[in-house]
This record gives sequence, C-alpha cells and structure tokens, in this order.
Amino acid sequence: MASQNPVMEAPNIWAVAQQQFDAAADQLDLDDGLRRVLRVPKRELTVNFPVTMDNGRVEVFTGYRVQHNLSRGPAKGGIRYHQDVSLDEVRALAMWMTWKCACVNIPYGGGKGGVIVDPKQLSQRELEGLTRRFTTEISPLIGPDRDIPAPDVNTNAQTMAWIMDTFSMHHGYTISGVVTGKPISIGGSLGRNEATARGAVYTLLDASATLGIDLRGSRVAIQGYGNAGSIAAQLLANEGCAVVAVSDSTGGIHNPAGLDPAKVNAWKREHGTVVGFPGTDEVTNAELLELECEILVPAALENQITRYNAPRIKARIVAEAANGPTTPEADAILYDRGVFLIPDILCNAGGVTVSYFEWVQDMQSFFWTEERINESLKGIMDRAFGSVHEMAKRHDVSMRTAAYMVAVARVAEATTLRGLYP
Ligand code: GLU
Repeated sequence: MASQNPVMEAPNIWAVAQQQFDAAADQLDLDDGLRRVLRVPKRELTVNFPVTMDNGRVEVFTGYRVQHNLSRGPAKGGIRYHQDVSLDEVRALAMWMTWKCACVNIPYGGGKGGVIVDPKQLSQRELEGLTRRFTTEISPLIGPDRDIPAPDVNTNAQTMAWIMDTFSMHHGYTISGVVTGKPISIGGSLGRNEATARGAVYTLLDASATLGIDLRGSRVAIQGYGNAGSIAAQLLANEGCAVVAVSDSTGGIHNPAGLDPAKVNAWKREHGTVVGFPGTDEVTNAELLELECEILVPAALENQITRYNAPRIKARIVAEAANGPTTPEADAILYDRGVFLIPDILCNAGGVTVSYFEWVQDMQSFFWTEERINESLKGIMDRAFGSVHEMAKRHDVSMRTAAYMVAVARVAEATTLRGLYP
C-alpha cells in the first residue's frame, strides 16, 4: 500500500501547466514570440469582497477570474469553491481550458475562476450571498460574448442559477447565455449534468477499442465522487465494468467483486460519505490509486499521481476525469511503463462540450433532445480522440503531448492569422 502521501509533493500546478505547454511547443517547433504570448494568461482579476454571514459578522473573501486566451472565441471555464484555491491554480486551470476547447475544436478560449472558501462551512444563504457578490465583482469580465463561467469543484446548477440571476438583474433582462450548467428550467441543457462523465466514458470506449481491451468485465477504480466521479461510476457499471473502488474527500471503499453505484449514491446521500458502505474495505485516497484494476479514473483534484506512486499504478488505462491529476514526472513514468493515459484536456472535455451546446441553445432559444446532445457529444469526443491518437502515433509522443500539440497548433494558427494589434 502507499508508503508516501502523493499530495505531500504538491508541485506548483502553474509551473506544471507551463512545462506541459513547453513540451508541445518544442515538438511543434513553435515560434519564440508565439510561445511568449501563449505561455501566460491574457487577463487576471483578483477580488476581495465582503459577505454578511448568518451571525451578522462581515467576512472578506478572495476570488479570481483569469482569462488565458481569447483567440478562438470567448473565454470558457468553470468557477470552483475550495479552501486551497490560489491565483496560480486558477491560472493553470484557465490555460488548460484554452487547450481543452481547442483539443475538441469548439470555438472558445480559456478562462477559470475560483474563490478561497470551504463551502461545506457555509449555509445555503451564505453561499448565495457569496456567489451573488462574487458575480458582481467579476461582472466587468463575464458575459455571453466574452467569458462564460460554468460549474467546477464544489459549484453546481444552483450556483449557476444565482450567477445568471445576478448578472441579469444588473442588466434588467434575462441573459441565460452568461453561464452554462444551469438548471434545465432556466435555459440549461439536457445531458449537461452527465456530460463530463459521459465524455470520459466515450474516450474510454475509444481507448479500449484501440488497445483491444473489453470494457465488459474490466475493473475500475475511481478517485473522487463528485459530479464526474459518481456519474462515471454509474455509466461504467452500465457498460459492464466492475467498479471495484470509489472515494470522496473523506476516504475510499473497496470490494474486488464490484460495487453497485446506485446503492453507493444512496449511502452517500444518507451518510454524507461513501465510507462505511456495507461489504467494503476502507482504503485511503492514495491507496485507491494503486489497487488492482484495468482502468483508473482520477476524478478529484490535481497532483494525485506523482513520481512516488506512478511506479506502483497497476491500471492499463488512466482516464483523467479531473483536471491536472498527474504530474509531468509521473507522466514520463506511466508512458515508459506502457500505461495508456487519456489526458484531461481530452478525457474530461465532455463537460465543456455540452456547455457549448447549452450556450448555442440559449442563443437560439431552441432546445435539443437528449439524443441529439449525446450523439453530437459522441461525434466530437470520437473525432478528438482520433486526432490525438493519430498525432501520438505520427510523432511517437505520449497522448498528453499529442493532445497539447493538436490544441496548441490550433490556438497558434488562430493567433497568427489574427496578427498582433496594433
Ligand atoms: N469545469 C469544467 C471543466 O473543467 C467545465 C467548464 C465549462 O463547462 O465551461 O472543464
């Protein structure tokens, strides 16, 4: 079992994001000027803002909205609420959104937001107050034609409803396209809630077909039981996989014979944790990564697979439903060991892809069926997987570097065609 806690290493993920970009820029032989432009975010806004808490005390919170690149369209990317949010983290996440949107070829740049807060410590009323004031503070940057937030870690459809309402109140009419991931009744899209997990499963089907592995009967371990992890567990069980382990921020559970995700969901709803689910052994989040399985799905936070635990990972496929779960040192180790990695900017792009469908539907006030959404999502994910895999084979590079090469080449082309102003 894990002897070191991989989280302890915690490299600065902004440095990681730049290192990943540099590797692709080298492979593409990118012009020096372009490198300097694409290596840094275009805009960064830091806001310190007051919220009146339930006990009458005024607390000041710090939040960020970063726009990395706008060459291919408006900035797009989620807002996360977490006690460990930092400007460097939001920078990395914003840059990853630029590459993610370009990797699946949707017409967006990249942005991200975050507030330093542990939302579990706040009441619903406090969370609403925090969300409305944060929206007001970042409103000079956001808008349906300039920067469109969405859910991320610890934010959800309700959070998006508050953002949409606050922004609409400022303007005096309803502007549903300012955020995606909204509830269906106020302009949300069918299939958006499941989209990150569904997109990841489509890439897993592509990867297993490429490797000649049958998903049916494959053992899967999933780290993280939020939107991506919990829905991936259900969808993979529907594909005939045995989901042998899952975890949340409080710990994990393991049963080599497989878990029933519907029952685990019910348990988590009742107890607030997956831990204690009957018929399972308890594992830590670090131990889960090293369990016997064919498929490992990191679906939590960054920096989970590091040089310390990468040599002991047993899975044949790692599907990055989380953003940034693997460090560059771990990438190299997994690649040398022949582990097939589906990189985050490809694997979890289903979320932003259905966000794109939601935004298009809002603009047209014409809403699609769930079948049309899932079919269109599959088309985009399969095409993106094909381009990345083809790039990896042609240049004999890892799937990570290949995904970056596909994405960076598209953003570089857009930037070059537009030219530098003035
Ligand atoms: N937060 C999600 C991501 O990291 C979704 C972003 C979006 O839909 O704009 O991709």
